[in-house]
Amino acid sequence: MSAKLYIFGTCSGTEPYPGRHHCSFAVEHEEKLYWFDAGESCSHTAYVMGVDPRKIHSIFISHPHMDHVGGLANLMWTIRKLDGRYGGMEGRTVNLFMPNEQTWPAVRQVLSQTEGDFRTRFSICDKRIRDGVLLDEGGVKVEAMHNLHLPQLDDGSWRSFSFRITVGGRVIVFSGDVKNYSEIEPLIRGAHVLLAETGHHRPAKVCGELNEMGHMPEKLLFIHHGRAILDEGQPAIDEAKTQYKAEIVVLNDGDVLSV
Ligand SMILES: [Zn+2]
Repeated sequence: MSAKLYIFGTCSGTEPYPGRHHCSFAVEHEEKLYWFDAGESCSHTAYVMGVDPRKIHSIFISHPHMDHVGGLANLMWTIRKLDGRYGGMEGRTVNLFMPNEQTWPAVRQVLSQTEGDFRTRFSICDKRIRDGVLLDEGGVKVEAMHNLHLPQLDDGSWRSFSFRITVGGRVIVFSGDVKNYSEIEPLIRGAHVLLAETGHHRPAKVCGELNEMGHMPEKLLFIHHGRAILDEGQPAIDEAKTQYKAEIVVLNDGDVLSV
């Protein structure tokens, strides 16, 4: 059975870029949304493409950089706005899996100064991301593995994670931002789909690394595009295709895929 992917933002942390926004996507399963990263305007993009943020079951933030959290306040605000207008959220819980202690309280502080002190009819359950299984219910399993995009803190904790999503017998991996793909090799092993960042890597280098590891997900979906894709475009993808036998797709904001 295939899973449905909604793509809300495909740009890395560049200055504003025409037609693209910072990183965000969601997996839908049985009318519930599992939302990964919340780059600028993700809730706007989602809603205008027909995806209702009131369906959110859980939000997972890979790391606290702006191109992954810049739209978080607005996402929560939009859920509250839609609930106020159309209802449906009373008594519900939105799980928020955060990689650090600081970001959500700061965002919450901003929200508390907005309409109605941001009192909501739904609760937001703020949870810390650690290596291992974060969620396993309703036919969706999400596992996290730290990566080396951000250094380890003195207390031994990590702040940057990659995710492995198992849904409907399919395994989807989201790299988040990584230093090298080899550092999340156990996560990629056996995956059907890899959502891969190229914000810090040439697409061909990503393919080369996957080749070296001997793991080739059947679909390689580029998200969080860096300058090679944004500025060079097709030549950078053609270069990558010489190193990868399976399907490569360059995602765009607003894409809907069955994977
Ligand atoms: Zn980053």
